[in-house]
Amino acid sequence: MTQSNRLRIAIQKSGRLSKESQQLLKSCGVKFNVNEQRLIAHADNMPIDLLRVRDDDIPGLVMDGVVDLGIIGENVLEEEQLERQLVNKPADCTKLRELDFGSCRLSLAVPNEFSYNDAQSLEGLRIATSYPNILRRFMQEKGINYRDCMLKGSVEVAPRAGLADGICDLVSTGATLEANGLYETEVIYRSMACIIQSNQPQTPSKQALIDKILSRINGVIRARE
Ligand code: ATP
Ligand code: ZN
Repeated sequence: MTQSNRLRIAIQKSGRLSKESQQLLKSCGVKFNVNEQRLIAHADNMPIDLLRVRDDDIPGLVMDGVVDLGIIGENVLEEEQLERQLVNKPADCTKLRELDFGSCRLSLAVPNEFSYNDAQSLEGLRIATSYPNILRRFMQEKGINYRDCMLKGSVEVAPRAGLADGICDLVSTGATLEANGLYETEVIYRSMACIIQSNQPQTPSKQALIDKILSRINGVIRARE
């Protein structure tokens, strides 16, 4: 019995999006308490369940219709969409709107001593990233050959560790790059958090609840501008 009459919303369990995702829903009048040990938080005043998961799992859960809505970085959504298109898995969902947090960019960066002119300077070199599909698309568009170094974490230490010549990683202030002796050379993708909806058919009551939440989100964000 995986169908539910309650609206399921996936949010990041802990990380850069989790506090603001919870805050946004609370500002929309959804009352809930999070138990750090629990995957699910039930709202007290609306038929809504929050699923607290790794951010990487959120796009797939929405695309597979396991949950109705998800709050996720556009970078992770884009990467998952490209990955699923490659392996012919369902990759569709609807972006309801961009949110007003989670701003970052996916950028190329190289060691300070690297003399970089343009992306062609990376021809034949090895690039460490957690976003192989977004990187591949960018490099293919430019006609540049490069070698992959796929890392889920510690991407910024890869050049110093001798694992890669450059990196393609998320940046917001640039402090992490600087601390690792790297500089940003090229922005390849700009990202914000967004709210996405599954393309599975919804019951009228769930769709009405989604419309209500979305209209409240619009109001909350407008008031914060
Ligand atoms: P999880 O444990 O859920 O997999 P994570 O370590 O993959 O977490 P976080 O570092 O919490 O992810 O980042 C979540 C999202 O926050 C990113 O995918 C991105 O959309 C956004 N973000 C905003 N600024 C940054 C930044 N400076 N570095 C990384 N992510 C950022
Ligand atoms: Zn993650």
